[in-house]
Amino acid sequence: MAKKLVIVGSGPAGLTAATYSARADLQPLVVEGFMTGGQPGGQLMTTTEVENFPGFPEGVDGPELIGRMKKQAERFGTEFIMEDIESVDFSSRPFTLKTSGRTIAANCVIISTGASAQILDLPGVKKFWGKGVSACATCDGALPIFRNQVIGVIGGGDSAIEEAIFLSRFASKVLLIHRRNEFRASKAMQKRAFDNPKIQIVFDSVLEDVYGSQFLEGIKLKNLKSGELSDYLCKGLFMAIGHTPNTAFLKGALALDAKGYIKVASPSSATSVEGVFACGDVTDPHYRQAISAAGTGCVAALDAERWLQANNLG
Ligand code: FAD
Ligand code: NAP
Repeated sequence: MAKKLVIVGSGPAGLTAATYSARADLQPLVVEGFMTGGQPGGQLMTTTEVENFPGFPEGVDGPELIGRMKKQAERFGTEFIMEDIESVDFSSRPFTLKTSGRTIAANCVIISTGASAQILDLPGVKKFWGKGVSACATCDGALPIFRNQVIGVIGGGDSAIEEAIFLSRFASKVLLIHRRNEFRASKAMQKRAFDNPKIQIVFDSVLEDVYGSQFLEGIKLKNLKSGELSDYLCKGLFMAIGHTPNTAFLKGALALDAKGYIKVASPSSATSVEGVFACGDVTDPHYRQAISAAGTGCVAALDAERWLQANNLG
């Protein structure tokens, strides 16, 4: 028998959608994810302190926050399976979604598979991930380990400049490292970077290595024009080289934008297929915050509930 509602993804967006739809008696099934596109619980499982989620004045550990969200969804009857969706068929109803071991039929679907920050594929980057190396300055930049220290930011787009400006509030100096000698970011953002006395721009350079003992202590950069290698003492390194939305498994089933994000009829969560809704970072190249993902998760659950009711499927 078809499930009323299947939610794909168990980050803040999927878990919020689960709580709302479970309270509406839709008995949602959450396919949590396993290997592709992160891990069960999503991106917050990879961070320590979350200081900007409302309701936690002292901050909260990412995994604890996700654990609480999951418990809340379970309390109202949400069912969970820890698998990846590998393919979908939205061409007829009930919709079908396939994992490696089963086919799930659903009257309505919410996609909340998030986006993965692109990171440079260097062994040191993996080794110091969460120990000085990060991909989210808004999340980690204000941590005590970065205060009054030199911090590097890699990238030349709006995100990199935004991160560098944000980090300049805490750091003694920010090295803004870009592989070309021209930023991709808007002129207005560039001006803010050039005008900021704490930001030192390092053009034509790529990361060769990162090193330290327990935590990051320094980086080695290569100048692409001269070939010269330079060492910089540096306690933090933030990648801002773009994000990849986790939509590969959709294989053309939904309309995506040029960068692969699911197109939704904002402010609703409706996708190009009636009865399929999307929320969170997988629809959002701009804000990418836990609270904005949770907010659109609520929107998707309400949209799904109304659609199921209107179609006598709820
Ligand atoms: P995600 O959290 O990315 O969750 C996606 C879910 O989809 C995961 O469960 C994944 O396993 C699942 N999935 C993916 N593909 C599939 C598939 N094929 N089948 C089944 N499941 C799948 N934001 C803040 O507001 N404050 C912070 O302090 C903060 N800190 C952060 C720290 C780090 C290190 C990072 C990386 C991000 C941080 N963020 C923070 C951003 C925040 O985590 C994201 O905006 C938020 O998690 C997005 O939620 P989401 O539910 O849309 O997606
Ligand atoms: P982006 O515009 O795609 O920029 C990514 C940057 O990373 C580029 O400068 C790119 O270099 C660099 N890069 C990519 N791969 C790299 C690699 N392997 N090694 C080194 N550098 C690499 O991504 P974004 O900055 O995250 O922005 C995404 C979207 O959000 C954009 O549309 C942006 O305008 C928007 N945004 C807007 C604001 C704002 O308006 N305030 C803030 C943030 C984001 P090249 O330039 O050489 O390709």
